[in-house]
Amino acid sequence: MKTIFADMTRGIDEQMISRAGRILLDGGLVAFPTETVYGLGGNALDAEASGRIYAAKGRPSDNPLIVHIAEFGDLQKIVRSVPETAVILGRAFWPGPLTMILEKNETVPQATTGGLDTVAVRMPDHPVARALIRAGGGYVAAPSANTSGRPSPTKAEHVAEDLDGKIDMIIDGGPVGIGLESTIIDLTEEIPMVLRPGFISLEMLRELLGEVRMDPGLRSADPSFRPKAPGMKYRHYAPKADLTIVEGSQEKVQEAIRRLAREKKAAGEKVGIIATDESAALYEDGIVKSAGSRQNEITIAMHLYSILREFDELKVSVIYSEAFETPQMGQAIMNRLIKAAGHHVIHV
Ligand code: AMP
Ligand code: MG
Repeated sequence: MKTIFADMTRGIDEQMISRAGRILLDGGLVAFPTETVYGLGGNALDAEASGRIYAAKGRPSDNPLIVHIAEFGDLQKIVRSVPETAVILGRAFWPGPLTMILEKNETVPQATTGGLDTVAVRMPDHPVARALIRAGGGYVAAPSANTSGRPSPTKAEHVAEDLDGKIDMIIDGGPVGIGLESTIIDLTEEIPMVLRPGFISLEMLRELLGEVRMDPGLRSADPSFRPKAPGMKYRHYAPKADLTIVEGSQEKVQEAIRRLAREKKAAGEKVGIIATDESAALYEDGIVKSAGSRQNEITIAMHLYSILREFDELKVSVIYSEAFETPQMGQAIMNRLIKAAGHHVIHV
């Protein structure tokens, strides 16, 4: 298949949006930018289109897709009912990086929800995404636009690396703004439960809803203790190298990484280090990449996946990363990093 590339880095191209909308309505696939990561879109109400998404990504079929909408009013057409909690969160955070799990109705095929009777819904905050959703009929199922198991794409080039030739169109909207997938909150639980941490933190949700729980399955390294979101059990975001996170006081972490990098290099390994603007100059051995500044945690979220891909390209064999327990996004950043490391964390 020849993939069409549409450049919208300088703004919306209306003609290309209507072409993309037609592709979606005909059951085809279009990758597009959102504020979190790039999504691989197909018509959410078309079981065959959902099947194509799973095939293009090599995604396990029990891992449900998030349905993207452009108007709050469109929500009621696909769910059994819209609870008060959804109205409150929608008003506060939509369009934005929050996905809500609700009871689905028969409009949504089970192919889209991985066989579940619930559906995940989000309204993205990106003009290209919203124009595309409107042009494509209002309901676009879109997981991250990467091959399953690779880091989520934060640039159109990442999408092309994984999916060129496998999908109908890639829309380039430039680099994304947040760089980590949306927060997922399950509103079908008696006490709302966060199934995946993201930019919208537990504290922000508690401020509006009162009691909110974090899925206890998220923190567990034990594979028999499963998180509720089917996708969270997979080892996503995996770089090809052996990734180890080093946790502790910043001085001790830097000291440990310096020593480990020196030892591994002496043993003939190609070493990568994920550092920060504050620490990058302190490392002498290995290829050092700064994720961003600890003073500006969004920069760390924004660069993390890109750095993992760059280290793949450089064919490093081991990676050491500093831990990032930053105030707002720390939980989300560490959740992704710990999974990428297959739970390999050293405390110093
Ligand atoms: P992605 O689209 O790649 O960001 O992944 C979507 C995430 O949402 C995966 O971890 C899914 O397992 C999760 N998800 C989607 N729909 C549901 C649902 N109905 N119930 C629980 N988790 C869901
Ligand atoms: Mg994904």
